[in-house]
Order: sequence, then C-alpha cells, then structure tokens
Amino acid sequence: MEKQQYFQWSSFINDHENFHFSVDAIGEIYLLDLKEDKIWLSKKLADLLYYKRKEKPAQISTREFESFFPEKSRIVFHQEIQRLKADGTSRENCHVALDVAQGCLSAVSYMYYFGDSDYLLGFLSVDYEPTREYERHLEQIISELKHAQSVNQLILEGSVDYIFQLNFADNTCTLSPKALEILPLDSPTFSDALDRILFFVVTEDRQIFLDSMTPFLSGTSTEQYAEFRLRTKNGNVIWVRCQGKGLHDSQGKPLLLAGSLLDITEQKEKEQRIRQMLYYDILTGLKNRRSFLIEMDAVLQDPDEKGCILYMDIRKFKSYNEMFGHKFGDHVLKEFANMLRLYFPQALGIYRFGGDEFLIHLKEHKREKVLERLTPFHHIVSKPRELDGHIIYLDTFTAALLYPEHGHTAEELLSNANLCLYRISREDKRDVSFFAKQNSIDFSKQYQLENEMRQDIEHDFRHFRVVYQPIVKHENGCSRWIGAEALLRYNNPDFPDLGQMEMIQTLEYSGLILPIGRWVLKKAIRECSKWNNGGNHIVVHANIAAQQVSDVSLVQYVKKQCESSGLDPSNLTLELTETSILSNLETAVRFCQELRSLGIGVALDDFGTGYSGFRYLRGLPISQIKVDREYTSRLPVNQYNQVIVSFLHELSQNMDLELCAEGVEMQDELDFLNHMGISMIQGFYFERPMEAEIISKEFPQRLVSC
Ligand code: C2E
Ligand code: CA
Ligand code: CA
Repeated sequence: MEKQQYFQWSSFINDHENFHFSVDAIGEIYLLDLKEDKIWLSKKLADLLYYKRKEKPAQISTREFESFFPEKSRIVFHQEIQRLKADGTSRENCHVALDVAQGCLSAVSYMYYFGDSDYLLGFLSVDYEPTREYERHLEQIISELKHAQSVNQLILEGSVDYIFQLNFADNTCTLSPKALEILPLDSPTFSDALDRILFFVVTEDRQIFLDSMTPFLSGTSTEQYAEFRLRTKNGNVIWVRCQGKGLHDSQGKPLLLAGSLLDITEQKEKEQRIRQMLYYDILTGLKNRRSFLIEMDAVLQDPDEKGCILYMDIRKFKSYNEMFGHKFGDHVLKEFANMLRLYFPQALGIYRFGGDEFLIHLKEHKREKVLERLTPFHHIVSKPRELDGHIIYLDTFTAALLYPEHGHTAEELLSNANLCLYRISREDKRDVSFFAKQNSIDFSKQYQLENEMRQDIEHDFRHFRVVYQPIVKHENGCSRWIGAEALLRYNNPDFPDLGQMEMIQTLEYSGLILPIGRWVLKKAIRECSKWNNGGNHIVVHANIAAQQVSDVSLVQYVKKQCESSGLDPSNLTLELTETSILSNLETAVRFCQELRSLGIGVALDDFGTGYSGFRYLRGLPISQIKVDREYTSRLPVNQYNQVIVSFLHELSQNMDLELCAEGVEMQDELDFLNHMGISMIQGFYFERPMEAEIISKEFPQRLVSC
C-alpha cells in the first residue's frame, strides 16, 4: 500500500471491494497502521485536529492521535483496538469523545479491521458544526486582537490606567507594564490569575471584587465593574476602579476579560471627606443626625425589628461655653463623645445631633435591660472630672424610647424623644425617662410653641412687639406721665390663646429670653430716647429675667445701646424680681452695682410676692421698689395690705428709694395711696399698655400736670 501525502482513499477502496461506502459521505477518516503504530489522517480530520496549524500533518503517531482523546475516551479507544485485534471483527458505534479546539466534542467512531492486513480503518462521525463556529469565533478574536495589538501597546504604555487582560483558557493575566510599579509582580503576565488578583485586593473588599466577576463568569453579562482597594507592593492601600469587557464562548463560558484599573484614590478620599462632612459630626467624629435618619429608617423598614434609642442632653452644658469659652465647650463635647464610645461598646450607633444632644442606638428592648446598660454610664458621668484645669460635671438626662412602640419612623422617634427630653428638662429631676404618650400631649404644645418662637426670633423677631404702660405721678389731684414700662407681647396666630405668663415662662425655660430680653432693651432704649428728644426726663422701665442677670456682657450691651441711641442712662430703669435677685444674690448684687454706677436705675419688681423677709433689702443697690398689685388692690378694705404698704412706704423713705404702686385700677385705691403719700402709680386706672406710636404721640401733652 502506497503511503503518500494524505491517504489515497480511492485506491484503498478499489483494493478492498467488499468495503462499500461513498467517500464523499464521510469526512474524518483515519487509517491506523497497527504494525508501525502510526495513523494516517484524512484531510478533514487533519484540519479538525490541527486547526491551529497552517501545515497540517498527514501522518502522526498513534500516541499523538490518542492525545486528542480525553482520558476516558482514550481508554475506550485503546481497549477497542485491542479487542479488534484479538477477534478480528469490525466495530461500530464505539463512542469516544475527542478533544478538538478548546471544547470536548462527542464523536462516534466506526472501526473496520481488515483481517488480512495490518490496517484498521476508522472514521469519526463528528458533529462538528459547533467546532467550526468556535474556530471561526476564535480566529476572529485572534485576528482582532492582533490587529489591535500595536494600538494596545501604545495605550498600555501611555495610559494612566493599568490595563489588564484575563485569559480564562489558561487562567493567566497580563497587566500593562506600569502595573509592576505598584503590584508585587516579577512579570506583567502571571498564572493563577484570579487567586493572585484576589491576593492583591484588601481582605474587606474581596467579596466586592468577586461579586463583580460573578455575572461575567456565569455568562449573564459581558461587563464587569467594581471599585475596591488594592495593597501595593510597598504596603500602601490604593483605591481602584476596575472596569472590564469580555467574551464568552457559544456555551457562555468566559474566554477573555480585558479592561482597565484606574487609580481613584484621590477621588475616593475626596468622596470620603464629603461623606465625612455629610454624615459625620466634624467635632466629635460621631455620626450625625442625617446618618441617624437614614440608618434608623432602614432598620424600621422591618416591622419585627426591636430596639431602643437613648436621646441624651448634657445638663448645664451652656454654662461651660459661657464661662470658659467655646473652645473649652468643644473640648467638653469631645470628652463626652469619647465617654459614650467607652461606655456603649455594643451600641448599634452613636450620634451627635449638634449642640449638646447625643443619641445612642441600642439593640436592647426591655426597659430593665436598657436601664442596666445606662447605669454604669450615669454613675460615672456625673462624677467631677478635670478638663483643661477646670472641674466639670457632665451630668446628663436621657429620654429612652423603644421601637417600634414609640415611633415607626426615625422622624417620629426623634420628635417623641424631643418631647420626652423637654418634659424631663421642665419638670423631672430624674436622669432617665421613658417616653409615654399621655404625659407628652401637653408638652407637645409647649414644645411647638418654643419651636415657633425660635423661628420667629430668627425671622427678625416677627410676631413679637413691645408695648408701653405709662407710669404716672399723681399729686394734688393732678397727674403727669413720668415714664413707661416696656412690656413684651407675642401675637402668633397659631397660638391665639397664649397667656402672657405662659409666654414669658416658655421664653425663660427655653433660654430664648436672652435674645428676646436684649431685643426688648434695645427697642425700649431707642423709644425712650425719642421721648426725651426735647430734653425731658422720661424714664423707660424694662424687665430683666433671672437668666439675664447672669449674662456677663449684658451691662456692656445696655451701655452701648444707651450710647448709640443717645439716651441718658438715668432715663433707664431695669426691673428685677425678688426671685431673680435672691436665687443668685452675689451675681445680682454685682449686676445692680454695675448698673447703678452707670446711672441706670434698678427697681425691685413685684415686691412682696416672693420672700417675706425685708432684711435683705438693706444690702441691695437698688433705686426703686415696685409694690405688687397683690398689695394695692382692694387697699381701702384690706387692712393687712394697708399695713404692708405703709411699712414699705416708710422703708423706702428711710432708704431713699422711690416707691411705685402697681396695678391700680380703682379710684379708691388711688385715693388711699395718695392719702398715704404714695404718688408714683402704674395701673389701668390711668392707662393700659399702649403701642409705641401712640405713647410717643401722647407723651408731650402728658408731661405737665392737670
Ligand atoms: P410686671 O413686670 O409686673 O408688669 C406689669 C404687669 O401688670 C403687666 O402685665 C401690666 O399689663 C399689668 N398691669 C398693669 N396695670 C395693671 C392693672 O391695673 N391691673 C392689672 N390686672 N394688671 C395691670 P403684662 O404686660 O401681662 O406682663 C406680665 C408680666 O410679664 C410682667 O409683669 C413681667 O413679669 C413679664 N414681662 C413682660 N414683659 C417682659 C419682658 O420684656 N421681659 C421679662 N423678663 N418679663 C416681661
Ligand atoms: Ca415689671
Ligand atoms: Ca410688677
């Protein structure tokens, strides 16, 4: 038998007439030379097996032929040949698989043994359509890649990014040479690609990277995207954006993924800083209100979630700010934040809500458990501690709210927490109080009022105004106006029934009396300077709340206002109540002395309503006593009041103080006072409080008696 380039099938067939088949009908044929242990391949089979090579061999060793079979098929193939040799019969339907290209194709081999020769003829019936497709596919990729190679090379070298190519056939990865500068690699191409890449990714981000690969690996997407951190060869951590596009084979298996790694460390740091500003409190590093709202709402999405929030406020924090300055105040807040971190290690979140308000989110849901968690903190926090040479007490009060009972949204929880805190600060001396709907209803109104007032103050004191009630000198049946008391009014249409005392109390409780008090003073001083334009001596009276007495810069403020409006300080009298003087006697005495030294008058307001003793009066640097309406009303028929008023009259004369009788409504009250020698009167009998425009018009003609 001639052995030429490719087997001469026709002559073979002619030689073996009993072998009937059409050469055209079959394609992949091989002839096994049993003696030489070699195999002749048909052109088609050579094409299939050596699709990668340009020159396809016509004859190969049996061993090489067998290398195309996966192991199992190889054994089958081998055994079949042995059996053929032994019994000399042909075999049909010997199922073997053949490894062609990258895939494993199933093939059925028919083997004919020519007993009289050393040859075995086999042909494979291969379903090779996919093989061809695959081949074309691959060739296309290769040619495209080759075409792009030179461009790629330029991109690789010039790019600011790191380019990668992941080849899934051999699990290799090729990175642009620049990557060697940052990754601990000897060569830009390395094997065990995914393992190695994962190794470079910081542990916490590995899942992110893997998750980004899953759609591509499973064949559902041709794209891949992730941002994660890499550890560089000098131990630094950088942020990269990894963006790839890949190819799959016809069965969806990944072939190749190519893309870029962009160093986004700077951008991430910027983002981080922005996030820090958005979601964290810069001073303490704790999370802020915005974080709480987002995180809490996410938790509350699940109606089965249970837990607790503790809303804390530092008692008297403001005084640290006022006494030692804001820098010290900041230090106090930082110290407090650190204590929260220390004492609530298992908190689900710790937040600062601005000012001295903090919030702790705990997973505890039973009251006893919540209290257990709080006890060590409350115990330790109220102990004196030294900070920058000052002794401070970080006494706190806490509103505790359980969810979902006390709120179904973060906002609802917070507004209930605020109500609860508000209630504690107004009436409760306890450190912790659990929210209760019932007793929060009244407070809710007050809370709204306070908020409304706060906003009104911010909007240029809208809804607030000052009215003036004349103070009259009544002698010998004639009266003239000698001054007026400035009285605050608040007319917010949302609170039509708000009482004057409730209004003042809310301002005092909330501390809003400080800005409002100054505003009243400014207005009163300006108004009075107008009244005195013609060189008169009209005195304006303004009320000072207890908190204002401790306002260290108030005297300076008053002085400046007098100067800027041109009011002689002797035309100003500040009214202080007994209570506000006695609750802080030392400070009040200093305050009065400073006022007096400027020539400003000081009146003791509502005299007789607070303390019963008069002894303390002696040491007070005051200039006037205002006798409360409690003593002036029904004076002619109330002997007790008569005794008190005449005593006060005598006392004021002895001490060289003016005496003003307030709340005079009736003629007989006035007569009685006049009869006692008391002539300075303020009361509805003469005038009710009036608007600034009216009183300034009225004053000129009211300055002269009768
Ligand atoms: P007060 O300082 O004793 O002011 C006098 C109050 O007596 C005024 O009430 C005035 O309208 C009222 N009054 C005057 N004459 C009569 C009278 O003949 N009969 C009756 N029944 N009442 C009379 P008003 O304006 O309602 O103020 C109540 C209190 O609110 C003031 O009492 C004062 O303690 C406080 N207040 C008013 N304005 C201010 C302010 O600007 N700052 C501070 N801290 N407190 C203020
Ligand atoms: Ca007064
Ligand atoms: Ca009064």
